[in-house]
Amino acid sequence: MSSTAFSICVYCGSKPGANPLFTAAAVAVGNWIAYHGGQLVYGGGSGGLMGTVADATLAAGGRVVGIIPKALVEKEWAHHGCTELHVVENMHERKRMMAEHADAFVALPGGLGTLEELFEVWTWRQLGYHDKPIGLLNTAGYYDGLLAFLAQAMQRGFLGETQLGLVRADPEPAKLLGELVQAGGLSQARRLDQI
Ligand code: AMP
Repeated sequence: MSSTAFSICVYCGSKPGANPLFTAAAVAVGNWIAYHGGQLVYGGGSGGLMGTVADATLAAGGRVVGIIPKALVEKEWAHHGCTELHVVENMHERKRMMAEHADAFVALPGGLGTLEELFEVWTWRQLGYHDKPIGLLNTAGYYDGLLAFLAQAMQRGFLGETQLGLVRADPEPAKLLGELVQAGGLSQARRLDQI
């Protein structure tokens, strides 16, 4: 880890989504990470919520590590303002590097890529491949349908309460991020009292 207090890996949409609250949430997440002396790790794109969370972190003085496969540099408009931009060979390398750099993971609203990344770190946690905390930012109830489906999967015997409990869901960015950082036993030292 660098000199930052903690690294949070953010998964989110490469599109902005249809509700301005999604953008507001991405800004709040970027601000929170920067104000608490943390580092953002993300997919390195400049569009959609991905670009928004990176821009907000940078504007608030935080470090941003972007990790993007070379085939997506143009397609997802790699963000050349990142503190560190890693152009990697493929998607597997991207995901491995993002996970290695992170102390905690959080999924904001997003599409298939976001869901895939969320479920990958969730299943890795279930299998004991890592023990890093995972959060789901349920902005404007975006993930209500998913959470209802997962509750149904539990009722129907495919999912245990413990597995479901490995991810904490909350609509409030500051509350969720604070809990993740605390769960990871990470330092929120810098500027915490100024928020
Ligand atoms: P989306 O949520 O679909 O807008 O995608 C968000 C991010 O997830 C983008 O940076 C995509 O490149 C990335 N992504 C798409 N497919 C995958 C995948 N199979 N594994 C990991 N990330 C992906």
